[in-house]
Amino acid sequence: MPSNRTFTMIKPDAVENGYIGAILTKIIASGFRIVSMKMTQLSQRDAELFYAIHKERSFFNDLVSFMTRGPIVAAILEKENAVDDFRTLIGATNPKEAADGTLRKQFASSVGENAVHGSDSNENAEIEGAFHFSGREIF
Ligand code: UDP
Ligand code: MG
Repeated sequence: MPSNRTFTMIKPDAVENGYIGAILTKIIASGFRIVSMKMTQLSQRDAELFYAIHKERSFFNDLVSFMTRGPIVAAILEKENAVDDFRTLIGATNPKEAADGTLRKQFASSVGENAVHGSDSNENAEIEGAFHFSGREIF
């Protein structure tokens, strides 16, 4: 995946709260093109693998439970400077610390249930996109 792409998930809390449309509207209005997208549900193993970097953290089990409890929307997004610009758009991990106008400020309720994922590097964007999408699903 080229470095002008990032990977996102609309997390189970935001799907449950009916925010899929509002979040996608804001993402598109912010200049991102949807390259791949699907609604899916992570298995326990999927979530453990996706978040393996956090497996020693105290919140890991809660994170896996949360991310597997209902459907998500996974997407690959394209824009110049996609990784950094998308992290800016979603805001701080803890919505209490997220800037006004960010997705987490608007749609998230807690540091755990924070509505939206965004890749933290070009390398992870590629790994995470490939985790969810095959070549035929990337446009
Ligand atoms: N998380 C949590 N408690 C914490 C930190 C993180 O439950 O104290 C969850 C939260 O859902 C977060 C995810 O673990 O989005 C991954 O954490 P990371 O530090 O990578 O935050 P992000 O990159 O998502 O801002
Ligand atoms: Mg992260």
